[in-house]
Amino acid sequence: MGGAAVTIIGGGPAGLAAAHEAQRLGAAVRVVERGLQVGGLARTVEFANHRFDVGPHRFYTTNDEVRRFFIDHAGGDVLRVRRLTRIRLGARYFDYPLTPVATALGLGPLECLRILASYAAAGLRRGASQPPATFEDWVVAAFGRRLFEVFFRTYTEKVWGIPCREIGADWAAQRIRGLGLGAALANAFGQRRAIKTLADEFLYPRRGAGSVYEAIAARLRAGGAAVELGCIVEAVDRDGSRVTAITTRDGQGRRETRPVDRLMSSAPLSDLLAMLSPPPPQDVLAACGALRYRSHLAVNLIVAGNPFPDNWIYVHSPDLRAARIANYRNFSPDMAPDEATSPITVEYFCFAGDATWRMTDDALLDLARAELAAMGFSAAGPGGAPAAGFVVRSAGAYPVIDVAHADHIAAIRAWLSQFANLLPIGRTGLFRYNNQDHAIATGLLGARTMLGHGRFDPWQVNIDAAYIEAGQAA
Ligand SMILES: Cc1cc2nc3c(=O)[nH]c(=O)nc-3n(C[C@H](O)[C@H](O)[C@H](O)COP(=O)(O)OP(=O)(O)OC[C@H]3O[C@@H](n4cnc5c(N)ncnc54)[C@H](O)[C@@H]3O)c2cc1C
Repeated sequence: MGGAAVTIIGGGPAGLAAAHEAQRLGAAVRVVERGLQVGGLARTVEFANHRFDVGPHRFYTTNDEVRRFFIDHAGGDVLRVRRLTRIRLGARYFDYPLTPVATALGLGPLECLRILASYAAAGLRRGASQPPATFEDWVVAAFGRRLFEVFFRTYTEKVWGIPCREIGADWAAQRIRGLGLGAALANAFGQRRAIKTLADEFLYPRRGAGSVYEAIAARLRAGGAAVELGCIVEAVDRDGSRVTAITTRDGQGRRETRPVDRLMSSAPLSDLLAMLSPPPPQDVLAACGALRYRSHLAVNLIVAGNPFPDNWIYVHSPDLRAARIANYRNFSPDMAPDEATSPITVEYFCFAGDATWRMTDDALLDLARAELAAMGFSAAGPGGAPAAGFVVRSAGAYPVIDVAHADHIAAIRAWLSQFANLLPIGRTGLFRYNNQDHAIATGLLGARTMLGHGRFDPWQVNIDAAYIEAGQAA
């Protein structure tokens, strides 16, 4: 579409996919990214010649277009990684996915019997009661209370920071397969089905997830697009139901207001609404204010040797604050300069501003080293000194899918639908707990919609990014 101009807030997977598609369709493109590098939560950060994702980022999709898009931008240099993951429960490690025999041996026959009895009891109750409203009810109904208590509760509450009875059942239905041992156990105990999270293989760019987004940004620039880094969007002006301009602030504190023709935003949904001027009605602002986001701390260490063979290990053990540890050497050898060391991330979840968030980087590095050692892994760097490292803080990385969120989103979405030239896309942009493939799909489809090449609704792209095959709405 000649003459059209698309401005995009955010240079993560959604924003860059949108920019790429808009450029392909002939629009002038401007991406405004507040970070100093592109890739958003899927960026890869370099430290002392080692490469770290923001928590492990495997790529998996059921959507051919999205897969081609990803591989194409990785320059064909994508590894097929055989997945090796375990779960730490108490002081034991369980292979994931589980096998019935190993699980039974690990848990002991008595615990297995209790789980099976409670599963059978839940089966008898199934159908007799109301559909479950909360995550806890959903899991208990599906797998039995014992399995919920043993495998689901601690890990889920570590990640989300709220009781399982406050987490929405729709999140369980959508993401149960992402939770680990519970789904794996159900799988091991006979409910065998295609489970995305249990896929044996995944794609991984040789130099980290973020290398794909660096490549997209380079192509965009080569095609004449502006990709501005270190530049935050602070305000979005509107005239009724059209957005008209954005105000940005760069790293030197310089503010600039420039007109926008069409605007796509992958900034957190509540940030976008808060930036609008004049502001949305009170009830819409109240709905935004009720949305909660969980934050993520990636404590990154350069550890001597290769302390564990897994890609990552889920830490269900309640005595440890870490939720997961990952070893990028086991994703790609190019993540470290040689075989002497491994780039490791120890992941913590918190709310921005809480006691964990306020810990200094040094205190977090000490905690991560101590917890690695408590798990039986070396936390020493080359030469035996404590492993060197750094912390990446991601405020608001996880939209909290609590029991009330759907009503709030419905109110916000209804109000936003009046805008013909403003479209939210991406993970926190749409307040969805989703992966790169989904973010890319919302960007591609959003750009087509913006430029009149279809009428795709990014809100309707599902977690498998399957909207293109399922919808073909245009
Ligand atoms: C710990 C962790 C592990 C994950 N593991 C996986 C995995 O294994 N596989 C997978 O596929 N996905 C994984 N994901 C999810 C994946 O990172 C996201 O789905 C993806 O990055 C979402 O892309 P996005 O563009 O929608 O959002 P983001 O990546 O959040 O990008 C949004 C961008 O907008 C910018 N921005 C926000 N506000 C403004 C503003 N006001 N002005 C300018 N810029 C702004 C941000 O700086 C950011 O760069 C994981 C995420 C996390 C946090």
